Amino acid sequence: QVNRAYNFNAGPSALPLSVLEKAQEELLDFRRTGMSVMELSHRSKAYEEVHNHAIDSLRELLSIPDDYKVLFLQGGASLQFSMIPMNFLQAEKKAAYVMTGSWSEKAFSEAKLLGEVYYAASTKDGNYRSIPKLKELQYHTDDAYLHITSNNTIYGTQWKEFPNTGGVPLIADMSSDILSKPIDVNNFALIYAGAQKNLGPSGVTVVIIRKDFLEQANTQIPTMLKYSTHAKNNSLYNTPPTFGIYMLSEVLNWAKELGGLDVIADLNEKKAKLIYDVIDTSNGFYLGHAEQDYRSLMNITFNLKTPELEKSFLEKAKQEGFIGVNGHRSIGGCRVSAYNAVPIKGCQAFREFMIQFQKENY
Ligand code: PMP
Repeated sequence: QVNRAYNFNAGPSALPLSVLEKAQEELLDFRRTGMSVMELSHRSKAYEEVHNHAIDSLRELLSIPDDYKVLFLQGGASLQFSMIPMNFLQAEKKAAYVMTGSWSEKAFSEAKLLGEVYYAASTKDGNYRSIPKLKELQYHTDDAYLHITSNNTIYGTQWKEFPNTGGVPLIADMSSDILSKPIDVNNFALIYAGAQKNLGPSGVTVVIIRKDFLEQANTQIPTMLKYSTHAKNNSLYNTPPTFGIYMLSEVLNWAKELGGLDVIADLNEKKAKLIYDVIDTSNGFYLGHAEQDYRSLMNITFNLKTPELEKSFLEKAKQEGFIGVNGHRSIGGCRVSAYNAVPIKGCQAFREFMIQFQKENY
């Protein structure tokens, strides 16, 4: 029996044990090729099967319509912050950004280097405890696009419904909640996500892009930074991160075997509730950061009554084997990331730990 930690890391984060075991089993001789998947040519049939299987599985799980392309890129979600305006922020247009946390800020700053951008709304004044109401979003029908961050990994908030933007292309950074629940891809012109939370290891970035939107992209940019380059070449223009895509394909198989996104969403609700309930019944011993209506099911952020208690809580959690409970270095506090692959028993164990800690320190 291997000793697996209670892993609440925010990303890279827990992967399904069965996927790791399968990768281990297949490592030295991948499907009778006599080599590992990392050693295969990316032009080989064996690799091509993995690559296309990952695309098909993602299409199936997210019900991605035929008029969308699925791309596997590199450079993390952070490179998307730049690629999006390079491709889509035309000189005579503006792009609207909804500010809901540090990652929206980073996306906005990159776009600002390349064109005209403005805030469609911001919850910064409330210390990013909430998401703007849909009716409060201010953008224009001739904007290049509207950008949102569907789950705010650092502050622990999540969009519960998405705007219907009509003709304005909606772009979403779904890095920290893609595959956590069903979504209607039709709402979006482009969805992007770094893989290292719900999808697999770091190194792959998934982009889902509507074909008619893709056709509007700027052509005067470097080849590798054009979405069309990757779309035309099935993400095989250059060497893709083959091992990461293999792991992604296995994580997607695991998600399908679990029963798909309805089942996963249900599990995620249960997992998050185990911890939010402790916060809510703690008489202020634990203080949730996010407003209740906007609580993330992926990243549960909270503080303790005093900085001293918080320090001792984090130390004790670590001693007891709960890893990754420290809040992001930029804001401190506590954060439990309960992504898809975090087992419910991990959340149960942490819940018990929180209850016990309160008893001992109240
Ligand atoms: N967006 C969000 C919502 C994130 O959580 C992160 C990483 N934690 C990023 C973007 C940046 O991703 P990457 O490190 O893959 O560039």
